Amino acid sequence: MESLIKSENFLENILEKFLVETSGKLPAYIPELSKARPESFAISIVTVEGKILQAGDIKTFFTIQSIAKPLVHGLALETHGREKILNMVGLEPTGDSYNSIRLQPGSHRPYNPMVNAGALALSSLIPGENPELRFHTLQNLFERYIGHVPNFDEQVYQSEKKFGNHNRAMGYLMLNFKVLQGDVEEILDDYCKECSFLVNTTDLALIGATLANGGKNPLTQKQAIDPEYLADILSVMFTCGMYDFAGEWAYKVGIPAKSGVSGGILGVVPGKMGIGVYSPLLDSRGNSVRGIKVFQELAEILQFNIFKSS
Ligand code: GLN
Repeated sequence: MESLIKSENFLENILEKFLVETSGKLPAYIPELSKARPESFAISIVTVEGKILQAGDIKTFFTIQSIAKPLVHGLALETHGREKILNMVGLEPTGDSYNSIRLQPGSHRPYNPMVNAGALALSSLIPGENPELRFHTLQNLFERYIGHVPNFDEQVYQSEKKFGNHNRAMGYLMLNFKVLQGDVEEILDDYCKECSFLVNTTDLALIGATLANGGKNPLTQKQAIDPEYLADILSVMFTCGMYDFAGEWAYKVGIPAKSGVSGGILGVVPGKMGIGVYSPLLDSRGNSVRGIKVFQELAEILQFNIFKSS
């Protein structure tokens, strides 16, 4: 693995191989996201030693979307403790789409923190007395993982809010069942904000490398998340991070990962590296078509599937 990572054209070759793949669609339900350049394509790797490899459109920034969910999950665990979070949100994959309105039978909890319902519930716990302070909490959170405060995409945020009735409905449903408390409009607002920070693939890979490195950012050496909660986050990413593709992903790629509807995928190879891929054309489940192919290829070449020991 090490020698491959050292070779100059390693990522360029993978990029070239999958440039011909042009299937998939831009997401239309958040109109701002459908303005992305469909041909954009980038791959980055950051190792736990802090080595950076990158290829393609690494200067293209896109909103983090659902890839914020593991970070917000970690924040909720650190702030409120494991017991409270487990009472609020389950640990089971849905086998259903990321915006499924279904809640767990009996408890009415959302199935897991990686789908919209679970992330909305955890967004109700972001520390801060008012929207400005909570925005500041989110900026700090991202800064810990990527080493700087990321830019914010006001247009995507407004677009999400304006066309967010599906998420809004889920918020009210959970309010009805007392799964979350507070003002649903404010919670939705915080949720839309956490999805609208701008990252590139190297930022994603650095988030991954931090999660792969005991929660310590390998470039800044700052602790981004208490290692106590790493297994909570990574196990849920593994079983639920790719939504209704999670089983196939576990089988074919075999690492914890999280996708976002703007076309990013973040992968974590524990103890080794973080990987970020971006290509905005999505399959029917909302996962990047090229992104999945790149990860499958990388799993073969770098042999990082955690179930395959060589
Ligand atoms: N902001 C998006 C939504 O709420 C996030 C979904 C995603 O990235 N899969 O629908």
